[in-house]
Amino acid sequence: MVPLVSPTARRGGFHVFRSALLAAVLLLPLVQVAPASAQATQVADWSEADLATAAALRDRALKGTSAYDHVSSLVTEVGPRLAGSPGDEAAVRWAMNRLGKLGFTGVRTQDVLVPRWIRGTTEVTLLGPAPQPLVAATLGGSIGTSDEGIEAQVVEVASLEALASSQAGDVKDKIVFINERMERTNDGSSYGKTVKNRVQGASVAANLGAVALVIRSVGTSSERFAHTGRMIYDVNAPRIPAFSLSNPDADTLSRQLKTNKQLRLRLKSTARELPPAWSANVIGEIPGTDRANEIVLLGAHLDSWDLAPGALDDGAGVAIVLEAARLISRLDRKPSRTIRVVLFANEEFGLSGAKEYAQQIGDEHARHVLAMEADTGIGPVIRLETQVAPEALGAIETMRKVLEPLGVEAGNNTAGGGADLGPLRSLGVPVLDPVLDASLYFDVHHTMNDTLAKVDAKALDRSVAAYAVIAYLAATKQGDFGRLASVPFDR
Ligand code: ZN
Ligand code: ZN
Repeated sequence: MVPLVSPTARRGGFHVFRSALLAAVLLLPLVQVAPASAQATQVADWSEADLATAAALRDRALKGTSAYDHVSSLVTEVGPRLAGSPGDEAAVRWAMNRLGKLGFTGVRTQDVLVPRWIRGTTEVTLLGPAPQPLVAATLGGSIGTSDEGIEAQVVEVASLEALASSQAGDVKDKIVFINERMERTNDGSSYGKTVKNRVQGASVAANLGAVALVIRSVGTSSERFAHTGRMIYDVNAPRIPAFSLSNPDADTLSRQLKTNKQLRLRLKSTARELPPAWSANVIGEIPGTDRANEIVLLGAHLDSWDLAPGALDDGAGVAIVLEAARLISRLDRKPSRTIRVVLFANEEFGLSGAKEYAQQIGDEHARHVLAMEADTGIGPVIRLETQVAPEALGAIETMRKVLEPLGVEAGNNTAGGGADLGPLRSLGVPVLDPVLDASLYFDVHHTMNDTLAKVDAKALDRSVAAYAVIAYLAATKQGDFGRLASVPFDR
C-alpha cells in the first residue's frame, strides 16, 4: 500500500500553492490602481459558462445515474464490512477496483490501523410471569458476559440525565434500562439527543453500581430491529455489558415493568475485543486543470456495522460521491481544481480513517479548499448548510440557486460537516453540508434491515445531482471559501 502523497510531491504541491499566493499578493497593487470602472466590477465567482455547465450536470443526473449500481455492487459483492474484518478488507479491494474502472486517477490506499471488536452472540431474555426472548443487539465495543450470563432485576429510567441524578441505591446490582424514544425528523437532528444513551449510558450506570445497561434502540423503526453503534467506556468506570432492545421489545419490557417492579432479565453476550488490524482509506481523483494543486474533497465511509451490508450507511454515501465525481469527469468543461474522493476507513468504531487522513496530509490541509461528505443515507438533499468564511456566503447562495429546482433550501453557517470531516475542519478546512432527507434513515440505520431493499434509485440520483453541482462549482469558483479557525480535535 502506497502513502497518500510522496513527501516530494507534497512539498512540490505546497510550493506551487505558495507561489500562487505570492503572485496574488504581488498583483494586489495593480488592482488598487486600476481605473475606477474596473474597480467597480467585482470578479464574479463563476462565469456564465460554469453556471450553465453546473445546471446541465444537474439535469443530466436527474435523467438517471449509476449510483444505484455502485451500492448494489458493494452490498452484493462485499456485504457487511466492520473495521478490520475480512469484509472490510474486501471492501478496500472493491473500492480500488471500482475507482480504477470508473476512470479516477491517482487511485491509492492509505494504511489505517483500526481497533477490532466482534459481536459474537447476543441473548436477552425477559423472565417472570410472561417470559420471552427479546430482540436485542450488543452495543459496539461492549464487553461480553460470562458463559452463565447476567441475571438481575431491571430498573427503568427515562433518560441519561434521569439516570445520572439517580441514587446509587436505586440501581446498585441491577440492570439499568434507559427507555428514551428517538423522534422522527427529516434532518436526523433527534439522533444527537438520544445517541448519548448509547455512547455514555454504560459508564454512568456502572458508576452507580449497575451490573449491565439496556437501552431502547436509538432508531425510529416500529419493527423488531435492534440498533447497534459505538459505545465508549469512561476510563474511570467499571466496564459492564451494554445492549439495545428493538422499539417493540422496549415497549414490552416497559409495559411489564408497570405491573411488576421486581422483573428480571437474563443477558448473555460473547462480544470481545481482538488486537488492532490494518484497514485503509481509499483515494481517487478527478484532476483539475489550472489549479490542480487545490483540492475539493468528497468523503464517505467504506466500513459498516456487522449486522447488515450497510446499503444506506454508508453504501449510499459511497455511491453518491463516486457518481458525482464520475459525472464531472465526463464533462467537456473540466473543473479547475482537483476533486478528491476519500472513502474513509472505520468511521463507525472510532473515526480511524478520518484521523489518519488529517494527520498524513500535514501542511497539505491548506490546499483543501472545501470538504463535504455523504453519510446520512440516500437523500435527497433538502438543505444546504455550511461553515465557510462569511465573505463566501454570497457564492453559497449562488450555488444554492442552481440547486433550487431540486428543492434545496438555504441553511445556517454553523454546520459541522459530518463525522469524517471533523479532523479536517479542526485544521481550518471550510465544510459544506448538503443535508440529506433522513425521515426514513433511522428506521434502518445500524440495524440488520439496512439492505438494498431500502435504496430508492431516484432519491439517490437527486442526491448525486446536488453533490455533483456543488463539487463542480466549488472546483471552478474564483477565489476560495476562506479558512476556519483551527481548534484541537478531541474525539
Ligand atoms: Zn455512517
Ligand atoms: Zn453508522
